[in-house]
Amino acid sequence: MSTTAKDIRQPKPLPPPNSDFYQLAEILPPEDLADLSKVRSFMETNVAPIINKYWVEDSFPFELLPAFKELNLGGLGLQGYGCRGGSQLLTGLIAMEMARVDVSFATFFGVHSGLAMGSIHATGSEEQKQKWLPPMARMEKIGCFGLTEPLVGSGASGGLLTTAKKDGGTWVLNGQKKWIGNSPWCDLSIIWARDVADNQVKAFIIENKTTPGFSVEKIQNKFALKVVQNGLITLKDVRVPEENHLQAGQSFRDTARVLRQTRYLVGWEATGCQMGAFEHALKYAQERLQFGKPIGSFQLIQDLLAKMISNLTACQCLVVRMAQLDDQGKLTDAQAALSKAFTTARCRETVAWGREIFGGNGVSIDYDIGRFFADAEALLTYEGTYQMQNLILGKAVTGLSAFV
Ligand SMILES: Cc1cc2nc3c(=O)[nH]c(=O)nc-3n(C[C@H](O)[C@H](O)[C@H](O)COP(=O)(O)OP(=O)(O)OC[C@H]3O[C@@H](n4cnc5c(N)ncnc54)[C@H](O)[C@@H]3O)c2cc1C
Repeated sequence: MSTTAKDIRQPKPLPPPNSDFYQLAEILPPEDLADLSKVRSFMETNVAPIINKYWVEDSFPFELLPAFKELNLGGLGLQGYGCRGGSQLLTGLIAMEMARVDVSFATFFGVHSGLAMGSIHATGSEEQKQKWLPPMARMEKIGCFGLTEPLVGSGASGGLLTTAKKDGGTWVLNGQKKWIGNSPWCDLSIIWARDVADNQVKAFIIENKTTPGFSVEKIQNKFALKVVQNGLITLKDVRVPEENHLQAGQSFRDTARVLRQTRYLVGWEATGCQMGAFEHALKYAQERLQFGKPIGSFQLIQDLLAKMISNLTACQCLVVRMAQLDDQGKLTDAQAALSKAFTTARCRETVAWGREIFGGNGVSIDYDIGRFFADAEALLTYEGTYQMQNLILGKAVTGLSAFV
């Protein structure tokens, strides 16, 4: 009896890695879906092939900026003043999509568009918004956000050491800001300082490259988000005109309004980071053979993959509900805090399981997973640590403040 082609059992094709298990993208209207696809294509085609090189070199991929600007995303989620606009759901899904390929690139954009532009949008006067936001939306001017100081991090609401003193029509700023993303190369800084007259926190726009007394030293030797350039800013008798004092920001409450929106974004980024880790790990598990079989066929590896997709799917559903609340103008600080704390903690678990699946290769950046593993650490800490989010949440649910 001869064997026919029909008799030879073809191996069943394996499903391609898909981290949208509950089909979240389907809830977007078609025009937003098209924008999301453009971001996915840019991230996969332009960013993915080169990002490990930049991560290892601890440098920023300026070569990506011309094509990135063409996506017209500056001021995503902000309305008017040349900003991209769009729903909070679209804003979140785009942040997630970026982080799915690289958390550093998502962070660079989040700092510029969410923190820096968001501060001006939330606390600037009409004239200030008209002056600063359009060139930032076109990404001709890139911004950063300076709140954290060498000696004041989580305790920022309790008092900043950077001071602002009014002197006629100008303000004189003195102090330091640490960890400020984009600051070693960007054009504008939003600096938060304590007005010595009333002890309230106020925000100022400083033009980095032309302001005497303003200097930035790049922070070296990070092991997370290495593509984002973080700086230590020193302000020595920096004179800022009153017109650069953000007029509607009169206390830390205004800073907190901006932070609520950007914690919102970190929840999405932590979800995207898990998606990237999962997809890389699943592909590896389907291809890597041990004992003559793909490691993905082993029960213990499937357990890790099942836990990864469960974690990230839970986070996706949470952030989508958060977006609905935000789009209705109902999102509270505590809800944003829950999301930031929960997604970043799950992210830490998910990327660690992904790294485990790669065995020894998991500690090499060449296999991508090590980048997600390291970057998850920064997500847990920046824009308010895990502990600070849970203190905000704890206060909301108990009615009792445990802040010291
Ligand atoms: C990669 C990266 C990028 C960043 N980018 C920016 C940026 O662009 N702009 C900016 O302004 N900042 C930025 N930051 C700073 C970041 O927001 C701070 O690191 C963070 O808020 C924590 O402050 P800290 O590092 O001073 O830690 P600390 O406040 O010293 O905290 C140390 C530990 O003590 C815990 N802790 C503190 N107080 C309490 C308390 N009351 N109860 C319980 N636990 C407590 C914290 O949770 C943490 O575990 C960035 C940080 C990193 C790592």
